[in-house]
Amino acid sequence: MCQKNYDVVVCGGGVAGISAAIAAARQGMKTALIEKQCLLGGLATSGLIYIYLPLCDGYGNQVLKGISEEMIRRCVEYGPFDVPESWGGPEGGNPGISGKRFQCCFSPAGFTLTLDKMLQEAGVDLWLDSMIIDAETNGRDLRSVTVANASGQVKVEAKCFVDATGSAYVVQIAGGKVFRHENFLTPWVVENSENPEWFQIDGSLHVRCEGAIKDEFKYQNSDNGKQVTGFVRKSWEMLRKRYDVLSEEKRKKNYPVHLPAMPQLRKIGRINALYTLDEPTQKIRFEDSIGLIPDWRKASEPWDTPYRSLIPADLNNLLAAGRCMGTAGEAWEVYRVIPVAAYTGEVAGLAASIAVKDGVTPADIDFKKLKSKLPGTGEKA
Ligand SMILES: Cc1cc2nc3c(=O)[nH]c(=O)nc-3n(C[C@H](O)[C@H](O)[C@H](O)COP(=O)(O)OP(=O)(O)OC[C@H]3O[C@@H](n4cnc5c(N)ncnc54)[C@H](O)[C@@H]3O)c2cc1C
Repeated sequence: MCQKNYDVVVCGGGVAGISAAIAAARQGMKTALIEKQCLLGGLATSGLIYIYLPLCDGYGNQVLKGISEEMIRRCVEYGPFDVPESWGGPEGGNPGISGKRFQCCFSPAGFTLTLDKMLQEAGVDLWLDSMIIDAETNGRDLRSVTVANASGQVKVEAKCFVDATGSAYVVQIAGGKVFRHENFLTPWVVENSENPEWFQIDGSLHVRCEGAIKDEFKYQNSDNGKQVTGFVRKSWEMLRKRYDVLSEEKRKKNYPVHLPAMPQLRKIGRINALYTLDEPTQKIRFEDSIGLIPDWRKASEPWDTPYRSLIPADLNNLLAAGRCMGTAGEAWEVYRVIPVAAYTGEVAGLAASIAVKDGVTPADIDFKKLKSKLPGTGEKA
């Protein structure tokens, strides 16, 4: 089997993985980003998500900085939306499209084009159409992942890995513990319609959310391939019901243009972290704090985040970032969204590069070194 070597290998090209790879490459690491699809952005683009949720606390204060901020400022590069000029008034606003917080809509396809430019600028070696299918460990140490692509199977070794697969898939195949969650359906579709009810990409195309969550479609598991297939097909069924009632004449003007290419599962799997965030942490300050996180659901004090929530308790040479990091309960809901995934990705990429430079595991890095590199959070805008 062909073999490749890197300092840092980031698994999964969603916003968390892209951010991790950029952060590691900017630290001079020879970095690879491995993604099974031929798009970048993960759920944020392939799932037809289009709201970059807020970086502020809803009272006019900036919370997130770094690559998370770079991404929101650049995500509208290929149109058609605007990044807010200010950080939002004290009234906060709802996290909807017209909310007053520092958030904005983006075109999923345009965002992919921008993310690719960011990776190129940082010098990341990008592997698209490359699925991680196996992991090799030596005791607790993750040594390599096996990737299947047009070249066949390739063994990819690294001194440190980041699992940003959105489901903790690498942790799972490396033998680590993964916790799963149930999901409910809200299928989104890009459609052409005379009567747009949702957000407009241009005069005709818009994204529509089939919002009604019917009881029969509530809370599906995604513990195996069959359940995921069932989940996706149920979302198609819901969408079909919408078009089936239209007359033939109407269907000439109202029709689906693009379906999500990733299952719209909000919470799939999370690692068994050294510290699992599950309760609100607004009143806590962790000694190993990697920064504050805004609650996208309401204007409120931000949440504090321990570095330990990115480290699997049962594996070395590996960090997790994005929606598969160590969060449960209410915290999973707060941490799973795009700006937070980008932020935790950046922290994981920085921590991985320190671990590689110092020849230690992520759990054993000198935390002061990481702290000095963090982009900073929680200041007045
Ligand atoms: C219906 C719905 C609506 C949402 N709305 C919003 C919203 O409006 N705003 C917002 O901010 N957030 C929203 N979210 C949440 C947000 O989109 C995601 O949680 C976030 O984008 C997750 O980013 P991530 O990088 O952690 O994971 P992902 O986006 O899941 O990225 C993981 C990547 O890893 C790749 N991968 C997985 N396994 C492998 C493998 N074996 N080999 C190679 N690659 C692999 C995947 O293809 C994917 O690209 C929504 C989610 C859903 C489901």
